[in-house]
Amino acid sequence: MIFKLGVIVDFSDLVFQWGKGKDNFERCLEEIRETEERQKEISHRTNIYVSNIFGDLFVFSIDKIEDGSGYSLHIWDNSGSERIFLGSIKTEKNWEEAGKHLERYSLGEIKCHGCGNWVDKKDGIKGYCYAGRYCLGNEECKETYKESRKHFTTF
Ligand SMILES: [Zn+2]
Repeated sequence: MIFKLGVIVDFSDLVFQWGKGKDNFERCLEEIRETEERQKEISHRTNIYVSNIFGDLFVFSIDKIEDGSGYSLHIWDNSGSERIFLGSIKTEKNWEEAGKHLERYSLGEIKCHGCGNWVDKKDGIKGYCYAGRYCLGNEECKETYKESRKHFTTF
């Protein structure tokens, strides 16, 4: 198969549907999953994307938190290799935070996974650990980076 398929969801639509209540949101997520399943009958290469206000696409996954208090949202760049957001969605503020990450990423920035500072996504990143990106601009960051690398065995 030389192509991959994908389901594209508009970020603001996702937030809008969430705002209409839990049952409605669950139905939407089910619809997305069903569409993805149908695509898998054609190609095993399929992704669920969210698009932001700039029209950029990001790979994402959203799962219910076990205690039912909200959702766990995970967003990567469109190749799935760079983690952009990982957090719980329980309030509208959480959605705003996730949306901010997508917007700033489109504008050229990423939040460092070590210290949490916003840095230039090309020049500001000095350390990579799978989907994690680290600026290594301070001791806290270097320490977190070192720890994260310990969890992966090197080849
Ligand atoms: Zn940092």
